[in-house]
Amino acid sequence: MLSTCHTPVMTATDGTGRSVDYLRISITDRCNERCLYCMPEGFADWKERDEILSFEEILRVARVAAKLGFRKFRVTGGEPLVRKSAPELIAELARIPGVESIGMTTNATRLASLARPLREAGLKTVNISLDALTPSVYRRITGGDVNAVLEGIYAAMNAGFEKVKLNMVLIRGMNENEIRPVLHFAAEHRLALRFIELMPVSLTEMLSEKNFLPAGEVMQRLAEHDTLTPLGEVRLGHGPAKYYRLEKIGVTVGFIGAITNLHFCEACNKIRLTADGKIRPCLGNHGEYDLKPALRGEGGEAAIREIFQQALAEKPPEHLFRENYQPSRIMTAIGG
Ligand code: SAM
Ligand code: SF4
Repeated sequence: MLSTCHTPVMTATDGTGRSVDYLRISITDRCNERCLYCMPEGFADWKERDEILSFEEILRVARVAAKLGFRKFRVTGGEPLVRKSAPELIAELARIPGVESIGMTTNATRLASLARPLREAGLKTVNISLDALTPSVYRRITGGDVNAVLEGIYAAMNAGFEKVKLNMVLIRGMNENEIRPVLHFAAEHRLALRFIELMPVSLTEMLSEKNFLPAGEVMQRLAEHDTLTPLGEVRLGHGPAKYYRLEKIGVTVGFIGAITNLHFCEACNKIRLTADGKIRPCLGNHGEYDLKPALRGEGGEAAIREIFQQALAEKPPEHLFRENYQPSRIMTAIGG
């Protein structure tokens, strides 16, 4: 549902009245890592190249989104930096009238050489996944090399982004002992750190109850040794994290408790564009709206706009993760 107020600025609202102005754009389903919670072991069923939207198609969608009131874009994947020419796409997105902020979520393995070109192209913020600092633990979870990630983080810090944040997915028994080292790393480099609860968003066996570590439990543990001061309504981004200041360590931490926070969806302000051209209004609901026929056939901008409007009107009020939700696509295909 779209509403035009009396001001000339259009805002998009969904069927429940939430204002939706944040589009996460997945530019590839491919990745150079293999996170246990994201990609099934041995997965290689990548989309064919012609199934994936070209940059020109992504830009057409983004231009319509901006006209409908979307102000914030986040480029993600898969791993967005495995797709060639990502800085060129960012530069084009930054030229779209009305766009206020462009961010990227990345595993940072390729950021060492790309941080500066991305910043120069107009990327404002970067969220970097860092599930562990101990090389063997990092490798066990992601299959990758933590040293490449650290180089990427340092490059991002030097490139002058407005914000660089760290994301850590909580996995019981696997990276619990990494929480403290990552916290100290974040404090040392003055980076905010967000803890993310495991979500059943992918087709991997490890997304089971026994690996689930609730954000509240981590908060409690941190509060045993430190003072957690809520930062209230302060928002350090456009996402759903609740932020606190850990006073002794001196670091800002966020908690993304999609499963345990019963109010998680109330302020949801985003929808997703998958790499293969589908609007996904909710990560935890199967509904998708295919833009490819409009992009590659008849209809043009009007048809794209109509599909956006339908996706917004039918955006579910909340996710189904607590209802024995069974994912049907892997996370990289949807876009994180
Ligand atoms: N490759 C980039 C990265 O890892 O940052 C971007 C894509 S990734 C799918 C986006 C985010 O989703 C990452 O922070 C990742 O940790 C998170 N993620 C992936 N699978 C998840 C799961 N099952 N539960 C919670 N978070 C997940
Ligand atoms: Fe790749 Fe990111 Fe998924 Fe890890 S979380 S497998 S880095 S897309």
